[in-house]
Amino acid sequence: MDCPTCATELKRIQYENTPVLQCEQCLGYLVKQKQMVRIRIDRSTSVQQLEEQASSEQQPDTTDRIRCPRCRAVKMKKKAVQLEDQEMLLDCCPKCDHVWFDGGELSKWQADYEHSKLAADAKQNMLRSEMRTDKQKQATQERIDAAPRMQSATQDIFFWCVIACFGVLSALAFGMGQQTVAILCSLVATGVLGWYAWRQIDGLWARVAAVVGVVVLEVVILIVYCAL
Ligand SMILES: [Zn+2]
Ligand SMILES: [Zn+2]
Repeated sequence: MDCPTCATELKRIQYENTPVLQCEQCLGYLVKQKQMVRIRIDRSTSVQQLEEQASSEQQPDTTDRIRCPRCRAVKMKKKAVQLEDQEMLLDCCPKCDHVWFDGGELSKWQADYEHSKLAADAKQNMLRSEMRTDKQKQATQERIDAAPRMQSATQDIFFWCVIACFGVLSALAFGMGQQTVAILCSLVATGVLGWYAWRQIDGLWARVAAVVGVVVLEVVILIVYCAL
């Protein structure tokens, strides 16, 4: 079987673990159409190597219709294949389903596939990682949102319990005639109330006003205790 472009005898070789016919002179390949996919998905050759091969093996595209090396009398049909940045004309035999790749075309076609596949993979990975960071951000935000609410709820209960306990203790002590204990307990209750107000309220003047309010409350309590 001879090369359809330079008439050198074609050699049977293994290309990307697939049997093909190669012309050692013009480096063209005759590939069975069914095996094209196998060659394309084979990863034995890197994209860089493929690109180097494509440029070193490059031959001028056959413009004339060539005859199929297998079927001899049958002329091959030109078939346009769209690559990333250009169109490639392949010669296909309508009878035996073999495709002729001129020198450099096969590696170029493979490299193009790898490029588009790599690009697609990269895009998908990027989308995935974006989704991941979005999810992480969301989860962190949810944690941030949830944490202080829980914390402040527990703190609220704690503060109000302390204030109420010391208030009740103060009243009980006063009822039992223990004036000093009553005053001390009321001081603790209003002190905690003042501190709590300071923590809860935003803005310096509002805080000062709240503390002044609490001090006034304490003074009123003291006056009541002393007057009774
Ligand atoms: Zn040849
Ligand atoms: Zn043929």
